[in-house]
Amino acid sequence: MKLFYLKITAVFALLLFAAQAWAWHDKTHLMIAKAAGRTSWYNAAGPDLAKIKAGNIEEYNHWYNNNAEAEVTVMMVMDQVGRYNQRNKLMDSEGHVYGAIIASLRAYNKAVQSGKYAEYHLDYCVHYIGDLSQPLHNIPYDDYNKKWHRATDGVVENTIWNEADRITAQMYEIRLSAENLEADLAREIARIANISRRLGYRLRAEKRGMTREEAFEQMGHSASLIRAVLRRYH
Ligand SMILES: [Zn+2]
Repeated sequence: MKLFYLKITAVFALLLFAAQAWAWHDKTHLMIAKAAGRTSWYNAAGPDLAKIKAGNIEEYNHWYNNNAEAEVTVMMVMDQVGRYNQRNKLMDSEGHVYGAIIASLRAYNKAVQSGKYAEYHLDYCVHYIGDLSQPLHNIPYDDYNKKWHRATDGVVENTIWNEADRITAQMYEIRLSAENLEADLAREIARIANISRRLGYRLRAEKRGMTREEAFEQMGHSASLIRAVLRRYH
């Protein structure tokens, strides 16, 4: 009987964990990638598919819960790079999406150098930059976040297919230099992370979900940064 209860507890723990695993819904990811000019935009939801088989290897690459609600710095971004594709339960309960963006590009470079097919690594990077602008991926996973997460993930999902222009309207120029690519990228990741977490706090204070206008603005940040990365990698 005791074992039975243990099993039930484990199932509930998994369900709770699964609830945390949502992200922008599929079409939203695809349209961010398409607006950014990614040729294989149709792969942009793939990393979410990988979660159900890869489990912890993949899960923690998609968010940073920032429990201290601290300003995101370049150093914080770089500190997360080594945590890509792994999860240390003590060190890494908050996730590491910021580092995953840079680490996936390093994996791309490595694959290119060894003559392997490298494009999927870039597809992962495109996905993580998409997650970067979801405000609830940048704030603590508290009661507010749990309650509103799914609605926020899907706020434009049903209409986005015909609204690509609403993302492009929010895009702007980001320059990543060839000489200091990682440093420039880390700075831009931190900048967008801070915009996103501040929006998250505002939504939480106002006890509401994100509006469609706010969602398009956020997606514009992701698409702008993806476009800047792609310019350096193709
Ligand atoms: Zn994701």
